[in-house]
Amino acid sequence: MIASVKGTRDLLPPETRVWNRVEAAAREVFALYGFDEIRTPALEATELFVRSVGESTDIVHKEMYNFTDRGGRSLTLRPENTAGVARAYVEHALAQAGRPWKLYYIGQQFRYERPQKGRYREFRQIGAEVLGPADAATDAELLVMLFDFLGRLGFTGLSVSLNSVGTEATRPAYVEAIRSFFSSNEKTLGDDDRRRLAENPLRVLDSKDPAVQDLVASENFPRMVDLLPTLDPAADAHHRELKALLVASKVPFKENPLLVRGLDYYTRTVFEVTAAGLGAQDAILGGGRYDKLVADLGGPRTPGIGFAIGEDRLVDILPEKFRKEAIEGARRVAVIPLERADVGESMTLAESLRKDGILVDLVTAAKGPGHGLKVAKKTGAALAILLGQEEREKGIVNVKDLARRTQESLPRLGLAAALRARL
Ligand code: AMP
Repeated sequence: MIASVKGTRDLLPPETRVWNRVEAAAREVFALYGFDEIRTPALEATELFVRSVGESTDIVHKEMYNFTDRGGRSLTLRPENTAGVARAYVEHALAQAGRPWKLYYIGQQFRYERPQKGRYREFRQIGAEVLGPADAATDAELLVMLFDFLGRLGFTGLSVSLNSVGTEATRPAYVEAIRSFFSSNEKTLGDDDRRRLAENPLRVLDSKDPAVQDLVASENFPRMVDLLPTLDPAADAHHRELKALLVASKVPFKENPLLVRGLDYYTRTVFEVTAAGLGAQDAILGGGRYDKLVADLGGPRTPGIGFAIGEDRLVDILPEKFRKEAIEGARRVAVIPLERADVGESMTLAESLRKDGILVDLVTAAKGPGHGLKVAKKTGAALAILLGQEEREKGIVNVKDLARRTQESLPRLGLAAALRARL
């Protein structure tokens, strides 16, 4: 037997019904806010992620699926989708349209991480990006849309952790403050964190080492939001306006001055939503503003903001009501021909019911009616129609309710409506 690759998984029915409902809800809600879908390739040039996500991040440093293809190109299975969207924006000169672009995507991402609950090597993200506008209202509306979506899935009590990581104007001073903080604490740092401190001190805030996490959480650790008012009043004003708009829009948020997120392209707004019930991997989504990314990729300076939801984790903690409705929602009718001679007529009946919007599963190759009913039950049909010569001649069908174990004869005329009333 050849097993699936470590860290990947098959999504099987009926669970795929839940995934489809989640994705349908995302498409529906995002469209209400003026978003359109973008689909970018799963394969990108390795250079794209080195330049956008950043060389010193864990993702680029040790989690990417890189390989050289037969033509000698260095390629990577995308570990995230914002870089691909920004690349496409530049490649297709979308800026020239002179309008904001509101884009969403749904798709697989790949990271070579240690698999555990909620963490896979192939996982799926649902994300949205706004390219163009840089105002606080754009950030606020993106979060309003996000909570609208989460609300429609039935989530209550979630709240977003919010921070500002400043801009180029504040970065050097903040990095200096972190370096000087650790200069007296360097012994606490392991090899990985020493490398982070040397290459990109902000990344020390992503450290998974408990001793380092304690230091970062301590009172003396420098906080970007404290530097903003003096070093970058515009970024500070943006952050304040965003908070005011979130309050006005009733989006629940908590400030977290230590949130930096593990990707280098963020500027100003960053946010994350965590949820109970997921164990160690409790972040269901993250996002932020990336005002330099498009320019860094060779495009015209275009501010952007987006989020990525970890769909695997989202589905894992979906409210039971949504899950149940997704699985049981589409009630089906099985049509079972009694004899081989009844197959043609059964197919015709099935087709005419489908035209009337009824979900019909034609059960052929059953070893007699009893077996046909068993199969219908196992596939989850709610009703079963048995069709034999007698029924054909009389223009009726025998309908069995598989849960209630009742049976009735119904005329073929107006059958769809009669079935719908019983589903
Ligand atoms: P990131 O792109 O790292 O900001 O991640 C955004 C979201 O994707 C996270 O909040 C997780 O929900 C999800 N995610 C990231 N990595 C994984 C993974 N290895 N397996 C499953 N979900 C993931």
